[in-house]
Amino acid sequence: MDALPARADVVVIGGGIVGASIAFHLAEAGVDDVVVVERGEIAGGSSGKPIGGVRAQFSDTLNIQLAARSLAAYDRFGETPGADIELDQVGYLFVLRTPRDVARFERSIAIQNEHGIATRLLSPAEAHALCPLLDPGACLAAAFSPSDGHARPAVAAGAYVDGARRRGARVVTRCDVTEVELRGGEIAAVHTSHGSVRASVVVCAAGPWSSEIGAMAGVELDVRPIRRQIAFSAPRPATPARLPFTIDYDSTFYFHNAGDRVLLGMSDPGQATGFGRDYTEEWLPALRRCAARCAPSLADVPLSHGWAGLYEMTPDANALIGESRSVGRFLYATGFSGHGFCQAPAAGEIIRDLVRGVPPFVDVTPLRAERFAERAPILEANIV
Ligand SMILES: Cc1cc2nc3c(=O)[nH]c(=O)nc-3n(C[C@H](O)[C@H](O)[C@H](O)COP(=O)(O)OP(=O)(O)OC[C@H]3O[C@@H](n4cnc5c(N)ncnc54)[C@H](O)[C@@H]3O)c2cc1C
Repeated sequence: MDALPARADVVVIGGGIVGASIAFHLAEAGVDDVVVVERGEIAGGSSGKPIGGVRAQFSDTLNIQLAARSLAAYDRFGETPGADIELDQVGYLFVLRTPRDVARFERSIAIQNEHGIATRLLSPAEAHALCPLLDPGACLAAAFSPSDGHARPAVAAGAYVDGARRRGARVVTRCDVTEVELRGGEIAAVHTSHGSVRASVVVCAAGPWSSEIGAMAGVELDVRPIRRQIAFSAPRPATPARLPFTIDYDSTFYFHNAGDRVLLGMSDPGQATGFGRDYTEEWLPALRRCAARCAPSLADVPLSHGWAGLYEMTPDANALIGESRSVGRFLYATGFSGHGFCQAPAAGEIIRDLVRGVPPFVDVTPLRAERFAERAPILEANIV
């Protein structure tokens, strides 16, 4: 793409959906000399997921605000930055099996409703009517938010990057950040495999690799990689074309349409942390067992292929967004723990404002990287 300049106002490290959104929002606001440095290709990390869910169905108020803001931005994506990300607002349907989970969702639905999200609790029959693959005998109730859905993360990242470049940002791919140089506790330069760029502001948007970038600047970013896999059915033309994004809350098994296929996924409790992201098949028997309990017709569905990526986990499975307290002008937006696509537009807006010293639309202090040392985690129940 572009050549690495000798100096920049802001260096964004990472060209996934989060770094792309940050670059776009900075460039759109008129911040000069924004440079994105990406060691592979744009959306070559987790943001390369072929299709991703976007939802505001969280339990924590701040997560709901970030996600609602992002959903609104994805809804306007055709105008700004201008691309068809195939947003399909089929709704998220959380399938609930126990009275405890129903009570938990009743509480989070009340908070979502206060923030204008029209989530409601459905009976098993109503849930089955929306998602005919669901076994209504498998649940006590289900939580449904009609404005949630799915879209194309890689298309969104590419469009943000293109929009940022049209507004003057530079995007340097195949360029590995190797060192962040400090002088007197302040950012001085970023050294890369393509040379060095002098800069006074650095934003870490390196997803699962963020703790390495933080360490280069002496900032602790507690982000750990863990492989997560999805599988695609063979084409199933008879499947209803607009299934909700259906999640069995108890097992984390989920499914939704992906063109004429069904996408299936699940959190594998046996998965160890690490950077490996080859797709393998040993998780499929467990996936099929969970499918049998929730959506029996998917238990034996022929699968055609799969995809593996990395979740970027923090200790409380919530994002880190803010500015380091110890290193001046080192900012970060990372650790989204599997909901980075849901929150990337809002994260871009917030980092734009923190860079410019403007109060963001919401106070992100609770998401500071220091919260673990301070024993102040975020308590979010709707993590899958
Ligand atoms: C199977 C799976 C399903 C998922 N489903 C969903 C979903 O439904 N909804 C949702 O919201 N999220 C989902 N996620 C999570 C989502 O994909 C991530 O949260 C999101 O893509 C994170 O974006 P990012 O930009 O922070 O990270 P990434 O996309 O990983 O980008 C980070 C970039 O930093 C670059 N980088 C790292 N180190 C360096 C360096 N030293 N120098 C230069 N560049 C560097 C990397 O090359 C990479 O491109 C899913 C993830 C997986 C794996």
